[in-house]
Amino acid sequence: MALICGHDAPAHGLPLCEHIRNAAADPLDHYIHYTGRGLERQHICGICHAEAATAVTAAVCEDCFDATLGSSLGVLGHPQVIDASRPLPGAVETVPFPDGTGTVVDLAPTAHGFVLLCDDGRVLRWDTGSGTCAEAARSTVAVPDDTEPWNDREQALRLHASRDGAYAAVVIDYGRTGEIIDLSTGAVTISLENDGYYSYTVPFSLAFTEHAGRTVVLHRPQWSVVEAVDAATGAPVARTPADDPPSAWSGQFHGALRLSPAGTRIASDAWLWHPVGQLFAWDLGQWLTSGEHAQGVDWWQFPGCAYYWNRPVAWLDESHLILGGLGDDEDEIAPGARVFHLGHRERGETVLDEVATFAGPEGRFFTADGLLFSAAEPGLEIWDPATGTRLGALTGFRPTHHDPVRGELVELSATGLRRWQTARATF
Ligand SMILES: [Zn+2]
Ligand SMILES: [Zn+2]
Repeated sequence: MALICGHDAPAHGLPLCEHIRNAAADPLDHYIHYTGRGLERQHICGICHAEAATAVTAAVCEDCFDATLGSSLGVLGHPQVIDASRPLPGAVETVPFPDGTGTVVDLAPTAHGFVLLCDDGRVLRWDTGSGTCAEAARSTVAVPDDTEPWNDREQALRLHASRDGAYAAVVIDYGRTGEIIDLSTGAVTISLENDGYYSYTVPFSLAFTEHAGRTVVLHRPQWSVVEAVDAATGAPVARTPADDPPSAWSGQFHGALRLSPAGTRIASDAWLWHPVGQLFAWDLGQWLTSGEHAQGVDWWQFPGCAYYWNRPVAWLDESHLILGGLGDDEDEIAPGARVFHLGHRERGETVLDEVATFAGPEGRFFTADGLLFSAAEPGLEIWDPATGTRLGALTGFRPTHHDPVRGELVELSATGLRRWQTARATF
């Protein structure tokens, strides 16, 4: 049976409105229109814009689709959100910072309470259980005065800490420098400086993990190279291959590093020339053992998205990663989540499968107890990542951090912490 374009061929791409279909010689620009029926999308033109709900579209063949494809005008409508919200038990608890703390610019939860970074460079260790708070170090990392943000990406101080609370990292997101601090002595063990090549496009790549009984820190000395070093000494542990010769590990401008919950895998929220956001994940245990060459290290490359990276990302478990945003272009992103399984074929080759796709979640992503938590301007929302159902919401609570040790989502506010137990979502 022939398509509406008259060709006996498979349907290709999204259905098109009649104006676009009939404008082959002079392509019309299009909106991506979500019809509100599931995740259904179509291309409609500016004429149809005013009456998008009643636009009639039809699929065409690949040649006809390509011949009529103009530029994107953005997104209209919304994909359907499946809502089964129930009232959430438990209030958000407020914990004020200790006296004298001043302005806290970032925090990091550890096994022994929180590490706080103050705007004057003090690094504090705060045990919210006992109430004790002590200065552990002073950082001299500072955002340069004369920086101009690229694409609204302001350089800003960022704090990371090792799980056991022994080490902290103070770095500049969208910047070049940082340092690793031994919190038992306050001494800087490693000064970090990357090559500055497009570093203003990405948060400072940094993650702590453990390997063979020592604390290891991952960072990006060069735009396309991630290095793992001993946090105490800076001694090299592993390094991703450089670009010559080209390989699967070439060409990534590495960005935010995301460690899986048990630390067996790492994902880099990277982008490729020119510019396509494309997450790259690899097996951390194999890589830290392999050292330099990364041969035999399992890796997974995620679908690309034009101009879009530093996106919501959360590992659900060691083999499932959730990526925020539906669509494949920054100008056409709709709120939603895509759940990927990082697996292996029978012969051991890696394979990536998208196992769930659903509308709704936006903002920061967190996971706990098999659930997805998203935190955008209205507040916290809770999702079942298997069915895509919204289970509940907490208006006005916008967590900035996940504290897996105490099982809480934490919002850094001007005067203290606001926190809420994630187990309350599994009522
Ligand atoms: Zn039209
Ligand atoms: Zn055709």
